[in-house]
Formats: sequence, structure tokens, C-alpha cells
Amino acid sequence: MDETPLQLSPSSASNFKSCPLLFKYRNIDRLDEPISTRQAGGSLVHAVLERLFAQEAPARTTERANELLEVLWTELREEPEWRPTELDTEDEVGWLESNRRLLSNYFLLEDPSTLDAARLEWWVEYELDDVQLRGVIDRVEERDDGSWILTDYKTGKVPGAAREQSASLGLRFYALVCWRAYGIIPGELRLVYLADPAVLTWRPTERTLLAFERQMKALAKAVRRAADTGDWRPRPSPFCMSCAFQDRCPAWNESVRGSQAV
Ligand code: SF4
Repeated sequence: MDETPLQLSPSSASNFKSCPLLFKYRNIDRLDEPISTRQAGGSLVHAVLERLFAQEAPARTTERANELLEVLWTELREEPEWRPTELDTEDEVGWLESNRRLLSNYFLLEDPSTLDAARLEWWVEYELDDVQLRGVIDRVEERDDGSWILTDYKTGKVPGAAREQSASLGLRFYALVCWRAYGIIPGELRLVYLADPAVLTWRPTERTLLAFERQMKALAKAVRRAADTGDWRPRPSPFCMSCAFQDRCPAWNESVRGSQAV
């Protein structure tokens, strides 16, 4: 790997933790991947919520959110980076309806007309040793006492207790960047799950962020080592079932050969 700072986002950090070879395919080789209906739905719903918060507070209604969904989809439906790879025209109505349901769930969790977003889709970065931590925070609010609330929308369901740590990685990552780059430890981190719907919250402390920072440094070291040695070890897991790189993955091919031999 060259000497430019290694870049890590919450999703690339999580990719490396789940499977180093997957990280390589996505972040080093930058191989194309099909866009799933779920990913595309997530991007569209995020874009609608961003535009909703750009409206005057009284206009942030369910009806306006649905209108924005229609308007945005009309603008974006032919764009390859927005359209699900395998979405037929006949499936499009049902897919849009599922996104509309996520938006109506959103209104069960919050009343956006009462919220004052200080920042939307906020790009943040911070260089930690020789690792550049970077990403986009969905929404930031500032309380009267000057503390920040970071909110991340999730279009999936609340994970079980075993996966809670990895699900909150993104927000802990952003809390660390806010602390190191701006000297502010956010007062609250919120994961807004639109499918359930439910909200999970955390209150980060200096101690928990220091522990997370150590994890990020160790992770960065492991990524550097893999890049220097070329040892991007595959780590098979149930996630392999939905991995777009099965065809080129030696671990997957090995397991397929093994099951055929039985
Ligand atoms: S198929 Fe599994 S082991 Fe192979 S790259 Fe994908 S996630 Fe990793």
C-alpha cells in the first residue's frame, strides 16, 4: 500500500471486521456490485428525509414526505447509482410502496416539525495517526446547552443484542471524529430504525470513546498489515450468502466444492 493515509469509513471498517477479503474487493479493488432493492431504498429514503428537513418546519408532514419521494424518484429512477440493479418496472410500484411505509414509520418515531437540524448529511473527517476517518452523519441537532445529538437513519430492523455493538459502530465512529476534530463529545447518539420502527440511544463518554479509538487504531494496523503482506484472508460467515463476490472468492468456491463432494 502507498504512504497516503489509509481511509476508513464506518462501512469500510465494518467490512474489514466481517471479512478482510470483502474489504479488499470493495475498498481496494473497487469492484462493481449490483445495487440491491434494500440499498437503493435506503438511499432514497435518506434523500427524502434530508429534503424534508430543508423545508420550513410546518411543511415537514407525511404528505410532503410522500410527495418528495415521488419527485425524487422521478428525478433519479434512470440513474444507475440510484436504481436497484434488478428492479423490473412491474416491481417498482411495490418497492416504492415499501419505501413509503418506511417514511410513515418515521413519523411514528419523531415529529420533524418540532426538530431543528443544525446539519444534514454532514461530511466529517479526522486524521488519527496515519488513518483518515471519514464519513457522513445523517443529522445533527444542537441542544441549548451546546451539546450535540447525532442521528443515523437505518432502514433495516433493530439488530439482536449480539449485533448491537457492530450496528452502533457508525455512530461511535462519528462521535469519535466529532470529539477529536471539534473537541465536542456528542451528548447523545441515536439510531432511528425505520422498519420496526424503534430508536436506540447511547450517551458516549470520554472513556468509551478512548476505548473505541484504540479499536480503530488496531483495526487500521490490521488493514495496513493485510495490504503490506497481501494477506486478505476471507472470513466465511452467514453474510457470504448475500456477498456479491462469491464467484471470485476462494473460500466460497471451496465450500461449494466441498458440498458437491458430499
Ligand atoms: S463470499 Fe464470504 S468469505 Fe468470500 S469475500 Fe464474500 S463475505 Fe468474504
